Parts: sequence; structure tokens; C-alpha cells
Amino acid sequence: SNNVINAKLVLLGDMGAGKSSLVLRFVKGQFLEFQESTIGAAFFSQTLALNDATVKFEIWDTAGQERYHSLAPMYYRGAAAAVIVYDITSNDSFERAKKWVVELQKQGNPNMVMALAGNKADLEDKRKVSADDARAYAEENGLYFIETSAKTAINVNDMFYEIGRRLPRA
Ligand code: GDP
Ligand code: MG
Repeated sequence: SNNVINAKLVLLGDMGAGKSSLVLRFVKGQFLEFQESTIGAAFFSQTLALNDATVKFEIWDTAGQERYHSLAPMYYRGAAAAVIVYDITSNDSFERAKKWVVELQKQGNPNMVMALAGNKADLEDKRKVSADDARAYAEENGLYFIETSAKTAINVNDMFYEIGRRLPRA
């Protein structure tokens, strides 16, 4: 059909978790070992063709630092989807992700599709956050959970496609 869905999507999560790298992988198919820190936020768009719809993502890649926290609502308000990213090698980043989940549950759009992405899945030997713990947390909170690697590209496109499938149809 000609069903076109325009969907604002925001990435939230600790600085260094890999938000910008996931976007770069998804939008350009690239990865940088020395990805520059995001200042404020960066905007990208990407279109996905699904069976029943075309999804046009308007992607806001936020900075993640505490000093930019007050700006976050500008990016998640009105968002159809949020990807909350943590780094599987950092317990702190997982704790930070949980805080974002609480904030979105309180302040975000109640119909928002929320994904929890455990990124840097290629660094299995440095893993600190078990997939079972993260999956259990995600299930309790109604989040879609997936482990990704922006470096190897594992599950990155799959995650965005699954979000697209979960968006409400017009
Ligand atoms: P952001 O602050 O959340 O946007 O994180 P960045 O995308 O800037 O990534 C922070 C650092 O982690 C950079 O040096 C990236 O190259 C690295 N990085 C991001 N994703 C991955 C990944 O999946 N695997 C590995 N090994 N490194 C990653
Ligand atoms: Mg960034």
C-alpha cells in the first residue's frame, strides 16, 4: 500500500554507549573507532520499506551528558519511538538507561515504542551486564530488548525494522 508513516525517533543513553555509532551504522553503513562526541543533538533521516508501510524515521541523536539533560524533553516529546542505549561492558550505563526509561514512562508519549539496546555486543569478553538481566528488566517494563553492535552491524538494521513494525498504523 501507500501507507507512509513519519516517525520521530530519539536515541537516549549514557555518553559513550554508542548512540551516534548506531545511527551512523543504520543511516550510512559505517563505523568509526573514534566517533566524535555529540554536541547537543544531531538529526538524521532514513526510510525503511516494510511489507505494509513505508516508515520515514526522523532520528534525533542526543548527547547524553548530564549538562544537556534539560534539552532531552525537546527530543523525546512527540516521539513515536525511543531507543535507550547502554553499553554491555558498563553497569553504570545500564543504570543510566533505567533512569531514562523511568523518565520516558513519566513524561513521554504513552504510546511510544521503546527499545532497549545493549550495544557493543562484540565485546563479549568485557561484558558486565548479562543479557538475561537486561531482558528481564525489559519485559517487566514493556520494552523491546535487543543486543547490538554498531561495530560489526549485528542486529542494528533488525532493531530499526522491528521498531517500524511496532509503530501504530494510520
Ligand atoms: P555516544 O556518546 O552514545 O554517541 O557513543 P559513540 O557512538 O560516540 O561511541 C562511543 C565510542 O564507542 C566510540 O569510540 C565508538 O567507536 C565506540 N563504539 C560504539 N559502538 C560500538 C560497538 O558496537 N562496539 C565497539 N567495540 N565499540 C563501539
Ligand atoms: Mg553521540
